[in-house]
Amino acid sequence: MTGSNMWTDGNALAGPLHDIFHPDVTAAVGGCGNCGRIGPMAEVRVFDHAPGVVARCPNCDQVLLRLVRGPDRAWLDLRGLDYLQLPMAEEA
Ligand SMILES: [Zn+2]
Repeated sequence: MTGSNMWTDGNALAGPLHDIFHPDVTAAVGGCGNCGRIGPMAEVRVFDHAPGVVARCPNCDQVLLRLVRGPDRAWLDLRGLDYLQLPMAEEA
């Protein structure tokens, strides 16, 4: 299910993750826990044709992120990432 017509780029994460990450997650940098690729989350492959959202590494296809929303909660699985570096406003 990783055919080129089945995914969109990481910019598709902006809407689903906006409520959880107030900083722009597409400007975040992620480190793949499998191949070590470090790159902008805007470049990951997003599969959103299911009840949840799955983001995969564009280099090795590792699942980096899973998000499922319910009416009053969300489940966020980031175990495929070594880390997620989020841009933050500088503190005054
Ligand atoms: Zn990878």
